[in-house]
This record gives sequence, structure tokens and C-alpha cells, in this order.
Amino acid sequence: MVAQTPRVEREDDRVRVVSEVSGRRPLWFSVEGRHAELLGDRADHVAIGLLMPAMKEGRDLHVGGTVTDSLLHQANGDLQLLLRLIHPGLHPIRVTAGAVEVPAARAAGVASGFSGGVDSFATLAEYLWADDAPASLRVTHLLNNNVGAHGHEGEALWRARRAPLAEAAAEFGLPFVTVDSNLDEHYPRIGFIQSVTMRNAAVPHLLGAGIGHLHLASAIPFSFVRIDSSGEIARFDPFLVPLLSTSAVTVSSANSGLTRVQKTLSLIGRPESRYLDVCTDDDPARTRNCSQCPKCMRAMLTLEMAGHLQDFCPRTFSLAPYLERRDAFIASVLASDGPYPREIRDYAKQIGWHWRASDHRRAAALRARETASGMAHRAASLPALRPLRKALGR
Ligand SMILES: [Zn+2]
Repeated sequence: MVAQTPRVEREDDRVRVVSEVSGRRPLWFSVEGRHAELLGDRADHVAIGLLMPAMKEGRDLHVGGTVTDSLLHQANGDLQLLLRLIHPGLHPIRVTAGAVEVPAARAAGVASGFSGGVDSFATLAEYLWADDAPASLRVTHLLNNNVGAHGHEGEALWRARRAPLAEAAAEFGLPFVTVDSNLDEHYPRIGFIQSVTMRNAAVPHLLGAGIGHLHLASAIPFSFVRIDSSGEIARFDPFLVPLLSTSAVTVSSANSGLTRVQKTLSLIGRPESRYLDVCTDDDPARTRNCSQCPKCMRAMLTLEMAGHLQDFCPRTFSLAPYLERRDAFIASVLASDGPYPREIRDYAKQIGWHWRASDHRRAAALRARETASGMAHRAASLPALRPLRKALGR
């Protein structure tokens, strides 16, 4: 796979950085014209963006233009080894560059992704609003990337979601940099959850003339960090992001020490949290949280347990849809082994929150139904196995 030296094109109100890629559509990223001064002149973002797709195809990757020496070294070494631990379907490849140079001067800008979710608010609480936020890590720019989170046809959804976020950024006094890209088209055989860290880590390198650090909001607390076969790349961000850093552009996994419950609690009393958008309902016409999807329910239950749900209603959440589904949701929290339900149960113990007897009954019924449907599923697959077993003499 050969990517040509990135070139810069102006297009209406945006500036696009384009690299031709052999046998594929060109790879491009764009920012609004007023943020063009952030764009660096290296091709490190291309090396990071195309590494997994090239490994998936087992093709060596040549990146035209200048790639930073330390990044190229990692891309031929530990970075590939780590990616292959979690994605055994990736092949070892050789990565080369048109030119190799020591890291450029580090820019002063500090960026944080801003999607309006609990993770991004927690990052801002620690690195923007806290009195003791270190000056060298204090957030100066908010990024909103379109690198695949909104699905293949996600342009309209991305536009709809970013308008209130731009308003929030203006209130926080920070520039809101929207980074559009067709990077997702280059991942036809690799899912978003499998590659999100690589996609987002390409962006600060693209913006290397103005950004020297990216706080990548952690989605997984340290206690769940592990290399396993789930394929979920965020599970090993703390191992991965140092390998995606140079001394000019560093990436860190922010707030990995906090659980989702702790992050949700950090929103209490913050006027900015009225911009909170945790919802997974992908209706572009939606203007606030649906208050009934699992992520809305999880945040609302946590806030209710803390005694502060009413602070968030009706501006951020609506009570009626939540109350209608609350019993069923609590049953699922008590019946599930997933990390987030476990966090909520731990929090309940910590604050002396008592689940009702009816909650336990519903949870037991839910577990029984799930066990029965699991057995039915296994039974349904048995007839197909019988001829095979017979042929094998078993
Ligand atoms: Zn929702």
C-alpha cells in the first residue's frame, strides 16, 4: 500500500489534507479554514491512520512525505506487536516513509475530544475546570472528529450532533475544531470499536502545528484494562497510546483511574453538564437525551442513587420515560455480569443503597429467562450437529 505525500486543498470554508492511496480512494482529513494554522506538514497521521488497514491486508505500507523517526520505529515494532495481540487477524508488515526526521518542535496546544458524553466531561473536569489542572496539560482546544463513530452514512448525524457542542465550547471559551475525514472508508474490514483509538490518535498528528497533546478520554477504567480476545481496542489504550506518541505530539488516556460511576458523579453541581449528551438514539432530529436507551438509563440511575437526578431534569433528561423503564433496567443491572452494572452495584454497596425485594425478584426472573433461552438456543442447534456426530462415530 503506497500513500503519496499529503497535499493541502481549499474547499469552500474547509481545508483538506489529501493523500492519494494506491488501489483505493484518496485518504483525506479536513478542518474549517479558520483552524488551518493547526495543520502540520508531516505525514504521521497517514502512517497511524493506514497502519491497521495495511496490516489487515498483509501489505507493506509506504507513506510519502515526512514521518517522525520514533513513530516509524514504533510502527515497525511494538505497535504492530500490540495490535496483533488483540487482533490476531492482522499481519506483520514493513512500514517505510519518503523521508524520516527527528520530531518537530512541540506545539503548545492541548486538545480533548468533545462529544458531550460522560467521558469527555470527566476529562474537562480534570484538565480544564479543576483549580489544580497542570498548566502544560490544560485543555486549549476541543476536537470533534468524524472518523466513523456515526456510521457509514454518518455525515448528517455528525452535523446534527455538533451544533449544541459548538455552543457549549463557546461557553467554555474554547475553540471547537471539527475534523472531518473519510478514514472510515479505509477500514472496510475493521469495525469502529476494534480501531477507534488508532482513528482518533491520527488527528492530533494531523494538527501537529498547533496541538502538542491529546487527552484521549478513557472509556475503560484501569480495573478493566486487559488484552483479551474481545477485539475492543479501548480496553488496552493505556498500553497503546504511548506507542502513538512522539516527543512533539503526545497522546494520553485521560481519567483511566475513574469508573463510569465516578465520572457521572463528577457532573453533579456543574452548570456545564446541561450540555451532557450520553444518548445512543441516532435520530438526527433528537435535541436532548432520550431518557430510555441503556446509556441514558445508566446515567440517570447513577444520578438518582446520588440523590441528584432532579438537578438534571427536565433540561438534560426527562423523568417520565425513565420511570416507565426503571424497574426493568434495575433488574438488568442486578442480573448482568458486565462491567458497568458491576460498577453500579459496587456504588450501591458503598453508599448503603438498598435494592427492593421486587428488584431482586425481577432480576432472578430475568436470569431464569436468559438461562432458558440459552438452553433453547443450544437445543435448537443440536439437530444440525447430530449427523456430524454420527459421521464422527460419537
Ligand atoms: Zn438515550
